[in-house]
Amino acid sequence: MKSKILIVDNDKSTRESLHEFIENAGYISSTASSADEALDLLKTNNQDVVITDIVMPGMDGLELTGLIKEKYDTDVIVITGYREDYSHEDAITIGASDIIFKPIRLEELLLRLKRVLKEREITIERVKMLEESQKLAITDGLTKLYNSRHFYKQLDLEVDRFKRYHRPFSLFFIDIDHFKKYNDTYGHVEGDKVLVRLSWIIKSCLRTMDSAYRYGGEEFTIILPETTCKEAEIVAPRIRIAMESEEFTPKPEKIVHVTISIGVTEYNSNEKISTLVHRADMAMYAAKQKGRNRVCSLFADKSSSSGA
Ligand code: GH3
Ligand code: MG
Ligand code: MG
Repeated sequence: MKSKILIVDNDKSTRESLHEFIENAGYISSTASSADEALDLLKTNNQDVVITDIVMPGMDGLELTGLIKEKYDTDVIVITGYREDYSHEDAITIGASDIIFKPIRLEELLLRLKRVLKEREITIERVKMLEESQKLAITDGLTKLYNSRHFYKQLDLEVDRFKRYHRPFSLFFIDIDHFKKYNDTYGHVEGDKVLVRLSWIIKSCLRTMDSAYRYGGEEFTIILPETTCKEAEIVAPRIRIAMESEEFTPKPEKIVHVTISIGVTEYNSNEKISTLVHRADMAMYAAKQKGRNRVCSLFADKSSSSGA
């Protein structure tokens, strides 16, 4: 894809000759006659590189550079005729990628522009790789849900939010019923398919602000921000019923249903995260005890109730 270059110069003839040169060099060039016009254009039109004169009536090129670097992912090359007044260091400090002194030698400008574009490409590639590896670090490979490391990080954030704004949040602890038997009967690969399908079901039942995690082998957790235990008790049966209705065919002609037990609890002021997670786990355990394929809630005062 062709790179987009914006030329900013109040001098019409310089602007037009640079424009023509940049276009001929194979880039998409646009022009602005002032810093304000350049900022206006940037609002709607992303640019890879801005080449700007420093000395212009109104806002100068260095101030423009500062504003561009604050708001946009755009590189800036500044041009000046005043070698004594502006140093390379001044320009770089404010965020410019390079400085060119007049009289402009077009070949030199092109070389510098190419170098800036090359560095830009490498930086973008690096940022992409970093984002990708950060995503991998918090994602479970099989189910593509978040992993337990991210679960604890998000719980920390929710507890912070609770302390600051007193917003309630709830937690689900989900465990597949008799999953060992399923694995033993149909094999691990079929078991993995159940884990993946359950993850889809969980995702499809959640609201956008909720987040789901593979906590461990066949255990999942869900954080429900802005949700009291009573409200969470309405969401949980939806997941339970959706899973119960799902048909698995681990063998040809063999339709099997798999169920889950869900523990529901709500964060209680001043408690430790480990206490909250333990209570959700206890609620799930109570659901197992009561016969599995059900939802149980446990409040901080230890009273428990069973849901649908
Ligand atoms: P319960 O209803 O009490 O939860 O019984 P269960 O058999 O589900 O519980 P148990 O803890 O005894 O067994 C959990 C099983 O989950 C053991 C293991 O075979 C299975 N499991 C854990 N992680 C994975 C996984 O990544 N893939 C597959 N296929 N199975 C897994
Ligand atoms: Mg388990
Ligand atoms: Mg289990």
